[in-house]
Amino acid sequence: MNCPFTPEFPASDAARFRDADILVVGGGPAGVCAAIAAARHGARVILAEQGGCLGGMATRGLVGPFMTCYDKRGETQLVRGLFEEIVQRLVAVGGAIHPSQVRAGTSFAAWHVAGHDHCTPFDPEALQFVLDDLCAEAGVSVLFHATFLKPVMDGSRIAGADFATKGGISRIVVRVVIDATGDGDVAFRAGAPCELGDPSRGAAMQPATTFFRIYGLPEAAVEAVRRQYPDDDLCFKALVAKARADGRWTLPRPHVNIYRGVRDGEWSVNVSRLNGVDATNPESLSAAETEGRRQVREILAFLRDYVPGARDVRLLSLPQTVGIRESRHVLGEYRLDRDDILEGRVPADSILLCSNSIDWHSGGADAAGTVYVEVRDGDFYGVPFRCLVPRGVENLLVAGRCVSASACAAAAIRVMPPCMAMGQAAGVAAALSCAAGASPRTLDSGLLVSALRADGAYLPTIPQPKGTP
Ligand SMILES: Cc1cc2nc3c(=O)[nH]c(=O)nc-3n(C[C@H](O)[C@H](O)[C@H](O)COP(=O)(O)OP(=O)(O)OC[C@H]3O[C@@H](n4cnc5c(N)ncnc54)[C@H](O)[C@@H]3O)c2cc1C
Repeated sequence: MNCPFTPEFPASDAARFRDADILVVGGGPAGVCAAIAAARHGARVILAEQGGCLGGMATRGLVGPFMTCYDKRGETQLVRGLFEEIVQRLVAVGGAIHPSQVRAGTSFAAWHVAGHDHCTPFDPEALQFVLDDLCAEAGVSVLFHATFLKPVMDGSRIAGADFATKGGISRIVVRVVIDATGDGDVAFRAGAPCELGDPSRGAAMQPATTFFRIYGLPEAAVEAVRRQYPDDDLCFKALVAKARADGRWTLPRPHVNIYRGVRDGEWSVNVSRLNGVDATNPESLSAAETEGRRQVREILAFLRDYVPGARDVRLLSLPQTVGIRESRHVLGEYRLDRDDILEGRVPADSILLCSNSIDWHSGGADAAGTVYVEVRDGDFYGVPFRCLVPRGVENLLVAGRCVSASACAAAAIRVMPPCMAMGQAAGVAAALSCAAGASPRTLDSGLLVSALRADGAYLPTIPQPKGTP
């Protein structure tokens, strides 16, 4: 391994040098689960996060609810393990409603049906507390306000990584790295092949959205408006059309997509639409933050001025970051694609089962449209371990939004329950690899699946039809 101290990192800065078995970069749903799972398997884990809290989009981005963790029929809970443990902790403090109690077509699902059965409303502040506790109990060493800058390569291995911190540049020397940045920052800079957005559509990416939360809008008031406009399939469509005619609504969406929170009167608002945002480009990201907040003010004004019963609605919270649906897809040993999902394929090395629909948020001229395409054959599909193993870098795993999937398949597995399950799998895989002193690429997936089952993952043996990848 190269010496971790280079001229740009003098020995006098040794206080800023740390080492770990496993370094997880990014403390979102995937990264937190990866870190907890790895630490529970005995590894020394550092979790480095650029913000000041854990949870990623679920907390910093105010994204919610957790999308479905059940099969397509709504009968069996597929995503369990650490996801279920987090939900149980939240429920115990009144910070979530268990998905078994939440059905499609209700206020908790923004009245959507496809892909929205058994979602999990949760409180983002409660989630911050729960994730702090779980990491502390597992012995994860969390480094906040640490932004990954670049890897220190030793051939095709990552020997360490440099972070921008308030103390200057900190270096962490590691054996295995898990990239859970959502954007594939580590994999990209380590030289793993990546795709930005959808290469077949000129690197087009799904639109970004600035989520926000409101209070002071009782569910009964919203239901009364819905009864007044029975032809509206989506919330407040007629009122939005009126505001648009008045020049008071400039957003592409033709309706208001609001998810009821744990407490009556509180809602997560998923309405703003930011097209053409590239989260890997600082100027593009900066412009998106400002435009997102402009749209928030327009939406709030609409609610107060056009929706009966919403005069007193108030802003509960603004996110710390714009919500990014898509950026880099790291290319791995297997690239999950549309047909894997539609045909309900379950490869032998599946590390999670899920039924999440392909949520396609149009970013073009018809940016109003969001289409939910569900599994066609069967009730679920599997995500193989190979999607977590990037090509070209030996001691790296990826988890969460940036795993190896086409733009279309990523539009399904990017939601939070599968991201948590992928994180848990990456954490266990990294710990097993460290213990064996081998590359995660060579890990016996049967061993990994057994370990995940023992840790509460729902992975029944599924017969393999001919042609399963
Ligand atoms: C608008 C929108 C609506 C959505 N709706 C839903 C929904 O209703 N239900 C649902 O379940 N999912 C939804 N999703 C999807 C889901 O929120 C994300 O895809 C999911 O959170 C991805 O998890 P992750 O851990 O991979 O990444 P993230 O949640 O993005 O977490 C990544 C973490 O890494 C950190 N990080 C990034 N780069 C660096 C770096 N260089 N150095 C250090 N730290 C870094 C970030 O600060 C963040 O904490 C939505 C997403 C968006 C954007």
